[in-house]
Amino acid sequence: MEGLLQVYNTLLAAYGPRNWWPARTPFEMMVGAILTQNTTWKNVEKAINNFGNRLSPEFLENVAVEELAGIIRPSGYYNQKALKLKALTTWFAKYSYNIDKVREVNGETLRLELLGVKGVGRETADSILTYALHKPYFVLDAYTKRIFSRLGYEIPASYDELRLRIENNIPQELYLYNEFHALIVEHAKRHCSKAPSCGGCPLLNGCTKLSQDNYNTMKLPLQNFKG
Ligand code: SF4
Repeated sequence: MEGLLQVYNTLLAAYGPRNWWPARTPFEMMVGAILTQNTTWKNVEKAINNFGNRLSPEFLENVAVEELAGIIRPSGYYNQKALKLKALTTWFAKYSYNIDKVREVNGETLRLELLGVKGVGRETADSILTYALHKPYFVLDAYTKRIFSRLGYEIPASYDELRLRIENNIPQELYLYNEFHALIVEHAKRHCSKAPSCGGCPLLNGCTKLSQDNYNTMKLPLQNFKG
């Protein structure tokens, strides 16, 4: 895979650093990673706000599942997510709720542990690893696949195959992984949604989707099609 850093630098120049993850503590980040499954970030914020100043592992350990489900109701699938949050908290308890202790463990071990937690899939695990545990794992979501596919990259069916293909072609730097995923999300929101808004897209010159599929319909000036 070539040109990934070029994509990153172009998005960074266009949107600036995103400074993710939007959370006050690593534990809040982990909770947000569960709550964001199958919903918008706006709904996650509502659910997080419902905790007030109670959002701690100790609170999640002791609160009844039914009460927890009520608190996180705005995030949808709240009964399932309450159980997932309980399971995540049980995992965190193994480390005495000490994030520094977790960060001492190597990334692969932590990834396996997280994937063994109820409701934590690969995307959620990699988000937690990168944004809460400071282990660089490239987070893949539907936006990433869509954008890279439109840019002309071959997308393997397997999550980990694509992740490794990306990771093997960029430096293993936490800051880069953190910002790259956040910039992809920003780009998907601003331009590359399901029905892309290609006018003014910073990646327009190198985009195969635009040059192959939309050439006749975009009615953009020819000088935009140099790449
Ligand atoms: S030119 Fe259009 S399809 Fe291509 S990356 Fe930009 S918004 Fe997406």
